[in-house]
Amino acid sequence: MTDQTPTNDSAPAETQSVPQPAARQVGYAVIGLGELTLEELLPAWAVGKRSRLAAVVSDDHDKALRAARAYGLTEADAYSYDTFEELQSRPDVQAVYIVLPNSLHREYTERAARIGKHVLCEKPLAGSVEDAGAMVAACRDAGVKLMTAYRCQYTPLHWRARDLVQGGDLGSVKLIHSVNVQVEPADGQWRLKRELAGGGSLLDVGLYCLNTIRFLLGTEPTSLWAQTHSTPGDPRFGEVEESVTWVMTFPGGVTAQCSCSYGAAHTRTLDVYGSEGRLQLDPAFDYTNLNLRVHTPEAITEHRLKETDQFALEIDHFSACIQEGREPFTPGEEGLQDQRLMDAIYRSARTGQPVTLDAVPGTDAFRGPLPARTPDARD
Ligand code: NAD
Repeated sequence: MTDQTPTNDSAPAETQSVPQPAARQVGYAVIGLGELTLEELLPAWAVGKRSRLAAVVSDDHDKALRAARAYGLTEADAYSYDTFEELQSRPDVQAVYIVLPNSLHREYTERAARIGKHVLCEKPLAGSVEDAGAMVAACRDAGVKLMTAYRCQYTPLHWRARDLVQGGDLGSVKLIHSVNVQVEPADGQWRLKRELAGGGSLLDVGLYCLNTIRFLLGTEPTSLWAQTHSTPGDPRFGEVEESVTWVMTFPGGVTAQCSCSYGAAHTRTLDVYGSEGRLQLDPAFDYTNLNLRVHTPEAITEHRLKETDQFALEIDHFSACIQEGREPFTPGEEGLQDQRLMDAIYRSARTGQPVTLDAVPGTDAFRGPLPARTPDARD
């Protein structure tokens, strides 16, 4: 086995600079103080180079105050869902980051657009295709940017994997297998309620398989076939599905097979099989300790890259786009396309029939300009 020297050469370049002065950084209001915000996002702003936390929005005032104070803000920076619109008079808040249950993303995107704030929205973009389309339209009409928070499209290791796949290092790509499963507890949280989640394991974890495969290939599937399964009598799955397995065909004869579940122990993998080798990401979608290996008949090469906070990379990309007037690499349209494909996956599972998808010519059809790369990067 050979090891690659640790390097960050695949990182988007906007993340390489020293921190900007606080007054120049893009100020964010984060909406929703749940697990992701408290555990990952608040710490990420603290290490961002172009981004700073400027306000928190929650219906739990005590929690909002605690979070604000813990990250150097004051009581005046803690807003409720009802006072959200008061952010309009805060020129130091240029953007909001929506971290709420999926079906609430639309309401807060539309409200943010109405008060002139750019929107970074957690995945999935919405609970339905209709809502996702409305979010894209609302931000376009208001002249604000909308970015889908796809952290895996901003991390150095995923960019290295994309470079290897698209650069021919695996020869001709034939097959892709990806699995994203976890056990969802039965505590009645919003993920098991259709009205708030919009779907089950597909919208929550299966989306990573779908979105990362599209990112690695750069192309769009031309057909798909799917089936869902929920354990009969399991009270967790009365409203949303437990497991989904689906197969997609891509231009050039690539076949991708994916599975997601709320009933199997934490596993997140992605394997690309080419005529000259196999690329293995395991884990493929975790927040840290991602592993990338390439297996060929001659050697196993482990690609080790310096780890940078994935959320800080993603947030700094959006800040760079705001500061430089660029479109994000993963705009609302990218989230909307996944939403259409997940809709087609559910349709196929319902009917038992394959779904033929509209041909989408070109590459990265729903993405913005490629993020700036460092001089060493292979692009
Ligand atoms: P969570 O349950 O931990 O937090 C949800 C927050 O929304 C809480 O603060 C809750 O108070 C608030 N909320 C407002 N109205 C609510 C309502 N009617 N019902 C329930 N909660 C309500 O969820 P989370 O894990 O932080 O997920 C939030 C969003 O972030 C989801 O869209 C999820 O898909 C996404 N997410 C993304 C990643 C990632 O890696 N990018 C990881 C986890 C979650």
